Amino acid sequence: VVSLRGRPPATPGSASLNAARRALELDALAAGEVVDLLVVGGGITGAWVALDAASRGLSVALVERGDLAQGTSRWSSKLVHGGLRYLAHGDVGLAWESARERAVLMDVSAPHLIRPLPLLIPLGDQVGRGAGAKLEAGIRIGDRLRALAGTSRRLLPPARRIGAEEARRLAPALSDRGLRGALLHWDGQLEDDARLVVAVACTAAAFGARILTYARASALHAEGATIRDEQTGASFPLRARHIVNAAGVWAGELTDAAALRPSKGSHLLVRADRLGHPRAAVNAPLPGSGGSRFTFALPRPDDTVLIGLTDEPFEGPIPDAPAVGADEERFLLQALSRVLERPLTPQDVVGRFAGLRPLLAGAPDAATADLSRRHAILEHDGVVTVIGGKLTTARKMAQDAVDRIAARPGVEAGPCATRRIRLVDGPPAGSDLATRLRFAVAHELALTVDDLLDRRTRLGLVPERRTGALEAAHEALDQVVAES
Ligand SMILES: Cc1cc2nc3c(=O)[nH]c(=O)nc-3n(C[C@H](O)[C@H](O)[C@H](O)COP(=O)(O)OP(=O)(O)OC[C@H]3O[C@@H](n4cnc5c(N)ncnc54)[C@H](O)[C@@H]3O)c2cc1C
Repeated sequence: VVSLRGRPPATPGSASLNAARRALELDALAAGEVVDLLVVGGGITGAWVALDAASRGLSVALVERGDLAQGTSRWSSKLVHGGLRYLAHGDVGLAWESARERAVLMDVSAPHLIRPLPLLIPLGDQVGRGAGAKLEAGIRIGDRLRALAGTSRRLLPPARRIGAEEARRLAPALSDRGLRGALLHWDGQLEDDARLVVAVACTAAAFGARILTYARASALHAEGATIRDEQTGASFPLRARHIVNAAGVWAGELTDAAALRPSKGSHLLVRADRLGHPRAAVNAPLPGSGGSRFTFALPRPDDTVLIGLTDEPFEGPIPDAPAVGADEERFLLQALSRVLERPLTPQDVVGRFAGLRPLLAGAPDAATADLSRRHAILEHDGVVTVIGGKLTTARKMAQDAVDRIAARPGVEAGPCATRRIRLVDGPPAGSDLATRLRFAVAHELALTVDDLLDRRTRLGLVPERRTGALEAAHEALDQVVAES
């Protein structure tokens, strides 16, 4: 096991994950080691469940059939948000939960992975005065929830109305046709969603959790599951006293308990210079949505702007990586162009990705955009399934799931401690690409070139950048393997 090189010893044990540690821990489990808890799924939910349980003193194994953040958790909009949308739906409870969890993430768990992001709602021809007043009331309630949740004004400044000139200074590509001004509010933006998952998983490892990627679970039952090492093809029965199924939109393939109605959300990426290097996000209400749905353009730390978001019901078998449809791309470009000086064209798009929201089935005729983003804890044949929710609230989802296990007879688990745990750091700030890649192989369980380019870094979001970094990724893998 590689030491905690390059990391502050903020937590007990080693947070370093790599191929050698994975092999040792898989061998021990295959030899019959029994764990208190088996977690299936290495997205944000499973990672928090592993951290929650391990930090309460339970022995934990997490199995993920691909890499960490292989599924939906890397296809999000990368916002740690206070749930403004839920307010528009009148769901103050859900917005309050989001605001509270945002406060934990931004203040305690991951201040090093989240930055405050200013967002503008342009008040132009598309937004009448009545609708503008309603939106303003909504963001003021959101602000109140921010204050009640304990997030300081220094971290997320209060919302305010700004003039057209200031709006165009913050987002230079905005059209000034009929622009009366904008509503400015603040929310949290992740440096990257997959990096949050990796940080939670490494922190869980520091508390002793075994984090096993490329390990697929099947045949879940009350005392364990069959695990297949996807790298060797070998299978073995893993024995566990309790199981949490955190397989997201795939959870229904492992249990009959979860009835899901997945909905697809697609994003596009354009270069920041095409939109005048915006310093604020633009959040343009979709006409006819009553201010509950927006098209957004979020400036990202890598000099791109993320444009989203669609919300379409998804039928049929769940793909590993859903594709962005041509109609969705057209819709997003047109919707955002309504508020821009110069319309976007397909030639401006340098990357695209889509994810499936693991939404719980509601009334059969409900639109997916109206299905609740709440999470649920379900139990079937002794297996606990935790489903729904979002990145922002995954810590609380995990707490609820582990509380359910902790309440069972004979389980000796302490109270939830994750509200007070700071997640481990990644490579030192400002590291060059070669250093970041080597760090990921030595300490963050990157086992393949795809892990490096598509999850430890997000160079893969822009295919041209991915191609440019392929050689460096191969070198990092070869070098660390040769040194170990
Ligand atoms: C388009 C879009 C935008 C979003 N934007 C935001 C946002 O900005 N902010 C926010 O807070 N939330 C957002 N969300 C919601 C958030 O991304 C999801 O709720 C969250 O990522 C779900 O995480 P999860 O761990 O439950 O599922 P996943 O990340 O899908 O993890 C499940 C894991 O289980 C693994 N798995 C499946 N089957 C098996 C098996 N048999 N054995 C082992 N492993 C298995 C999969 O490979 C996968 O890695 C967004 C969602 C979408 C779709």
